[in-house]
Amino acid sequence: MINLNSDIKYIKGVGEKRAELFNKLGIFDVRGLVTFYPRNYQDWSKEMTVEQCSDGENVCIKATLITSVKEHLIRKGITLYKCNFTDGKTVIHVTIFNNKYLAKSLKEYEDYILFGKLEKTFTSANMSSPKIEKAENNNGIHPIYRATEKLNSKAISKVIKTALDSLPTFDETLDSELRQKYNLVSLDYAIRQIHFPNDFESLQKAKKRLVFEELLTLQLGLLKLKSKKKKETALKITKDYTNEFYTLLPFTPTGAQQRAISDCVNDMFGKYPMNRLVQGDVGSGKTAVAGGVIYTAIKNGFQCAMMAPTEILATQHFETLSKILIGTGIKIALLTGSTPLKEKREIKRKLINGEIELAIGTHALIQNDVEFKNLGLVITDEQHRFGVNQRANLAMKGNDVHTLVMSATPIPRTLALMIYGDLDISILDELPPGRQEIRTDVVNSSYHERIYKFIKNAIARGEQAYIVCPLVEEGESELISATQYAENLSKTAFKGYNLGLLHGKMKAKDKEKVMSAFSAGDIKILISTTVIEVGVDVPDATVMVIENAERFGLSQLHQLRGRVGRGSEKSFCILVSDSKSETSKERLNIMKKYSDGFKIADEDLKQRGPGDFFGNRQHGLPDLKIADMLSDMETLKLCRECADEILKQDYNLDLPKNRHLANAISDMFRNSISN
Ligand code: ADP
Ligand code: MG
Repeated sequence: MINLNSDIKYIKGVGEKRAELFNKLGIFDVRGLVTFYPRNYQDWSKEMTVEQCSDGENVCIKATLITSVKEHLIRKGITLYKCNFTDGKTVIHVTIFNNKYLAKSLKEYEDYILFGKLEKTFTSANMSSPKIEKAENNNGIHPIYRATEKLNSKAISKVIKTALDSLPTFDETLDSELRQKYNLVSLDYAIRQIHFPNDFESLQKAKKRLVFEELLTLQLGLLKLKSKKKKETALKITKDYTNEFYTLLPFTPTGAQQRAISDCVNDMFGKYPMNRLVQGDVGSGKTAVAGGVIYTAIKNGFQCAMMAPTEILATQHFETLSKILIGTGIKIALLTGSTPLKEKREIKRKLINGEIELAIGTHALIQNDVEFKNLGLVITDEQHRFGVNQRANLAMKGNDVHTLVMSATPIPRTLALMIYGDLDISILDELPPGRQEIRTDVVNSSYHERIYKFIKNAIARGEQAYIVCPLVEEGESELISATQYAENLSKTAFKGYNLGLLHGKMKAKDKEKVMSAFSAGDIKILISTTVIEVGVDVPDATVMVIENAERFGLSQLHQLRGRVGRGSEKSFCILVSDSKSETSKERLNIMKKYSDGFKIADEDLKQRGPGDFFGNRQHGLPDLKIADMLSDMETLKLCRECADEILKQDYNLDLPKNRHLANAISDMFRNSISN
């Protein structure tokens, strides 16, 4: 008999080997499995005819197989199976790709449900590799799980079904009064229905309950974090050195930069530690803001630490700030995962004795053995890549240090207040003068040849280009993987050119090498996944090509586009998409229409799409399993009120009815809160 803590290998039909595949998805025990919620659902309940369907959309059609299945060996390893169905009126030509098992199971004159993209022609219709099930087995709403190449959604769904069938009723985790007040279904109902809903109404109820619990936990945790931070600080500064700093800059700071720096400096004069978020669109000049705040802190006798999410960024900050601060005598060190051991030791020693005043680095900075003599200010750049936990961790290195986080993710203010409830906010709403608009175009893949030629021309002028592909070596065959793509291009369109490849699975050191070669202009074209998304500054790069653009969230596209247009030359962003869906087209056109990140975020809010506004973990909060800050904004508000009420009555969450919540908070925030 399995329970929630059982290793998933003990579920019937799983075993050691498949358990490893689940582990790759972060699923280790039965609890992890049943809280691995579907990322989407397919509605197989609305059976349509070809006539009712629109071209290029995912549809569900009930049809009869009217021919036998013909096998075509295309080349080694690729077999196509072709057959025809009819919905009673229109013939549907179906191609099945490499799936012998499915092809052999189909029987003439039987009824099936075909699910997938439909392409209409004048007299008939085509479907390529649709999902096919016997009509009699159609059970309405299908859960879709995040899958891997070796473990598909259907297989995951089967295992979850097995687990749910053998588990007893789930213990309730929310107090019954609270459930009544907010009209929430039981945990048992919610978990079973979220995977295998009876209908959309039950699904909504299940979702509401699970989202509520998750957001309530989040709000409780954040509120506790906030109240904990209200400690007085011994690190008050006494003098403002900002004007002196301005004389070091190679440019005049914008009004917005000045306001942000002055907000921060005022905070540091105060009784409590600074706890501020500086939000500014890509290119708004956040680094200079950081520099200014750092300068005053150091001049007041404090050490500073600045963290960036990647080595590339940390190195870049190190270089930028070293240049600005040259001649001031301020000692700066770069500390990352690839700093040689000997040097690392030396830096650590100098941090303890106070010789180094500014440490710039990656998360290597928050490792336990890094100590400071007199840390006064911690800055985290592109903070959405860091968790609250990491922030809290670094803050603990010093005694109530001032913290400044910087983010380019434009978040509507009301939402920011709620999710960064523990932070004050300054917004950089002004770009440095002289920025050129980046010309953005949306095209389909028939433009590839022209795009390559365009890139070659840019290179001939001494400029550089990025080409972004969404995924590396994933199972989805329609997606162009960066590795393959780079290989192809180096043999064809860009034979003889110096191409670089950058993807998330590379070692930090190798990434660094490629990036600095691109930075130095040795590599002309950088083919990459979204790892270049944040912060990187290469002024000669003027062309950004994004493949499968419809796969990205608008915010992500905006971040990517922000990698070009950083120098004096005119820059271009080319979004390549073959999507026929109207919504995708509209979304991509928003990119063409707007250049302001906040506007794009607003539009994105209005019509959410794949990848979503925040993309993955863009907000730096603990991982959420089901809730989504934006579409669940109303619930988020409710949970805020509810959390206030609970804490008013039982601040330490000692009451038995709040016991589950207390545990859930410590699970969610791991080390950052001690109750
Ligand atoms: P962000 O981190 O906000 O995306 P950066 O700090 O990388 O932006 O700055 C982008 C570019 O703009 C850098 O090359 C920087 O030198 C330049 N820059 C910043 N502030 C100004 C300013 N006030 N005037 C002119 N150029 C500026
Ligand atoms: Mg930046």
